[in-house]
Amino acid sequence: MRTSGGLSVAITRARDHLYLSTHQRVTSQSAAPSPYFTLAAGPSAPLVTAAPWTPTQLPAHPHGAGDKPTFSFSELAQYQSCPLQYRFRQNLGFQPQAAKELGYGRAVHHVLRRLAEHVRQHGDVPSLLGFEQLFDREFYLPYADRSAWETMEARARTVVTHYLTHFRADLDRVWEVERSFELHLDSANVVGRADVILDREDGLPGGLALVDYKTRSVAKVDEAMALQLQVYTAAARGEGYDVRAAWLHDLTAPKAAARVTVASTPDVVLIATQALTALARGVRDRSFPAQPGDGCRYCDVRPLCRHARTQ
Ligand code: SF4
Repeated sequence: MRTSGGLSVAITRARDHLYLSTHQRVTSQSAAPSPYFTLAAGPSAPLVTAAPWTPTQLPAHPHGAGDKPTFSFSELAQYQSCPLQYRFRQNLGFQPQAAKELGYGRAVHHVLRRLAEHVRQHGDVPSLLGFEQLFDREFYLPYADRSAWETMEARARTVVTHYLTHFRADLDRVWEVERSFELHLDSANVVGRADVILDREDGLPGGLALVDYKTRSVAKVDEAMALQLQVYTAAARGEGYDVRAAWLHDLTAPKAAARVTVASTPDVVLIATQALTALARGVRDRSFPAQPGDGCRYCDVRPLCRHARTQ
């Protein structure tokens, strides 16, 4: 069969299933299938416009002793919210379009990090002018157009100023920012980063508190948010650190409501580790059932999914 090089590669290297797709429209213009699509599918192949069938369970890969997979925490959190969504995104490569807001949270974290470094170096926060200069230099959004930039920059300035006003003392306690963690489970390794770690929790040098900054309002602490902090707590304790607390810090909330404590007692952390092990095992065993729910409303791969909850 004469096919394009790319199509030959797809056909001969597909491991589980092969889907061929074509556009009916490109922007507003009708588009005919490419000659290669027609050749491969046959000229009279019926066009299927419904969401494609996807298997929920794939044949297991032969795993050797040395190929323990490594997942990021966010990958496993995505699997937890819907295994089929994980499959579409991580295995089949359907990534969401870059949003204008992409990087906002990271940009705010970065400014806070620079402020913490300034305090460490100079013993105090910068002057008002110094703060403005630092903010202008460090705040960056890769995908924002001018109007989105102005809106988000103003929002970030408010959030950071609010933090400096009410949580200035935290900056004297910063032990590390964006600290990487690795947790070694039986079935997988899990990697992630804690936003901030504060020292002197309970007034004790070496007593640490893990903090996860949220740049959007947290209506309630969901399972994934708590799991993340509990997993990092397990990893930090595994390295021998004395983690005494973990909390979410809603940077948009009034001072009194900004901090929400997440349970981090040894028994809770053990349960979190077991939950993470089960998630990693699910990915490793290639089990991808759909888990329709409220998340379907915001799911980027919804047009491809025949299980999407409609209400
Ligand atoms: S639409 Fe719903 S069921 Fe389908 S992949 Fe997304 S979250 Fe899962």
